[in-house]
Amino acid sequence: MAKTLDLMFLGAPGSGKGTQAKILGERFNLKHVASGDLFRENLKNETELGKLAKSYMERGDLVPDDVTIAMLKDRLSRPDVQTGFMLDGFPRTIAQAEALGVMMAEMERHIAAVLYLNVPDDVIVERLSGRLICRNCQNPFHLTFNPPGKEGICDVCGGELYQRDDDKPETVRSRLKIYHIQTKPLVDYYSEKGALVEIDGAGGFSEITERLIEAVQQL
Ligand code: AMP
Repeated sequence: MAKTLDLMFLGAPGSGKGTQAKILGERFNLKHVASGDLFRENLKNETELGKLAKSYMERGDLVPDDVTIAMLKDRLSRPDVQTGFMLDGFPRTIAQAEALGVMMAEMERHIAAVLYLNVPDDVIVERLSGRLICRNCQNPFHLTFNPPGKEGICDVCGGELYQRDDDKPETVRSRLKIYHIQTKPLVDYYSEKGALVEIDGAGGFSEITERLIEAVQQL
């Protein structure tokens, strides 16, 4: 059996981790598992989980840990992630990180590296305010940095592009505040475990992809 590689992305909302995680996932044949995408899918399908998560997501708040952890536990038990995954957006709190540690031990797997994309807040606000997402396949674009070939249309599947409610400026500021309080402590948490690989997330998009690929190749 092929060697399993499990990786995690850590970074602020808008650090570019979602787009980079997709690219790296394809490059290294790892299943991209994004908690935000899972929540948005539930929202779109109007599941019980989606209804529960809706109000938190609209405010830019974190969905409670127990709900989020249960959703990820279910996702990571499916067959398509058994040869390796790329976690994106989870964990976002110390409690989630601890729960993930337990899940990984139960599965007899371990996170080979936590790729921390470090981006200054002002760059993030600029990036998020231009972000567009495909309503159908969730692929992200950016008005300035990664524009679609045809305005408002997804290059990948032809779906309609939209701006997420939580990418509006007031919500972005609140999400960043929450990131600093709740998620940033994970940088120290994984650094103490010797798993953190810090990547400079400022600069050109493909330049950052190269830095990430190099970091993964060195694992
Ligand atoms: P994202 O696409 O990763 O920015 O996530 C969008 C929204 O989904 C967040 O603002 C939260 O409301 C919710 N969410 C995603 N991942 C998590 C998580 N690990 N813990 C709690 N809430 C989350």
